[in-house]
Amino acid sequence: MSSPSQIELSLVIPTFNEEGNVQRLYSEILVVLKQLQISTYEVIFIDDGSSDHSLQRIEQLRAQDTNVHFLQFSRNFGHQHALKAGLDHARGAAVISLDADLQHPPALIADMVQLWRQGAEVVYTRRKDKQNVGLFKKLSAKAFYWLANRLSEVPIEEGTADFRLLDRKVVDAIKTFKESHLFLRGLIPTLGFKQVALDYEPAARFSGQSKYSLGKMFHFAINGITSSSAKPLYFSIYLGLFFAFLAFVYGCYAIYIAVFTNAAITGWTSLIASVLFIGGIQMILIGIVGIYLGKLFVQSKQRPTYIIKSETLTSTASHEA
Ligand code: UDP
Ligand code: MG
Repeated sequence: MSSPSQIELSLVIPTFNEEGNVQRLYSEILVVLKQLQISTYEVIFIDDGSSDHSLQRIEQLRAQDTNVHFLQFSRNFGHQHALKAGLDHARGAAVISLDADLQHPPALIADMVQLWRQGAEVVYTRRKDKQNVGLFKKLSAKAFYWLANRLSEVPIEEGTADFRLLDRKVVDAIKTFKESHLFLRGLIPTLGFKQVALDYEPAARFSGQSKYSLGKMFHFAINGITSSSAKPLYFSIYLGLFFAFLAFVYGCYAIYIAVFTNAAITGWTSLIASVLFIGGIQMILIGIVGIYLGKLFVQSKQRPTYIIKSETLTSTASHEA
């Protein structure tokens, strides 16, 4: 709408070592665009430092269709930053983000666009029947949402992923956020606008392996929680109070034993155990504070959150000054 190029739909696809998926994804997307009779579109692949032939595959597509674009990062910056870069550069009146591995079925794009045409400003998707997702992934996702929803002010609906349509107005709103630790899943529900959910069944990854190792997933969860909430800081106070109370009760008990009984205080073991225990708790609490402090530190440096090595689009955001 404000976009001078009048592109109706942008597709933003974070791509990290997805050489086996790029071609297939593109052809599936094209089928849907034809069906929707959308002729002004752009498909933006964000090559997040792939070490395989993903970029060559994307360039091959671009040779056939100039609506295909790419942003090549100088190294791997991570999925969330790739998404942000895509939003910063997309020019469409609506922008859909989806994974490159075909787990986010392109066929759903048709329903998303329909809802958008009926007035929805955010169409987010909820993963339903998870038979194609491994047990471990299922359990870890459950644990994440359980924890995130207890610890943060804004509930994040279970099963929501970074597969969504955003109206231009919402994209422009997100571009004004200068957070270096962006967590879109926690941010978008707080923005307001007319948000509509769409349920889907995830497909199996078409080719290649999941890029999320256990370590990365854990990092993602901690980052997600501490990006959208300061509640863990309060949690640390309560935990500290609770253990101080326990120590007080135990102290009373020790005095009682010493004064009113003649049972010798054999307490060396329990003393060491409790010192270690309290020490551990303190370490956790300092860690929680440290995470927030670290975020402030990174934010205060105002570094760019991603670096582009080569691209076929120019940014419309003030990201790179
Ligand atoms: N991805 C990325 N950078 C990364 C990790 C992943 O751009 O550091 C992309 C990846 O290519 C895919 C999407 O993010 O398009 C989701 O990754 P993946 O399928 O590995 O995650 P999962 O589906 O297992 O949660
Ligand atoms: Mg995947």
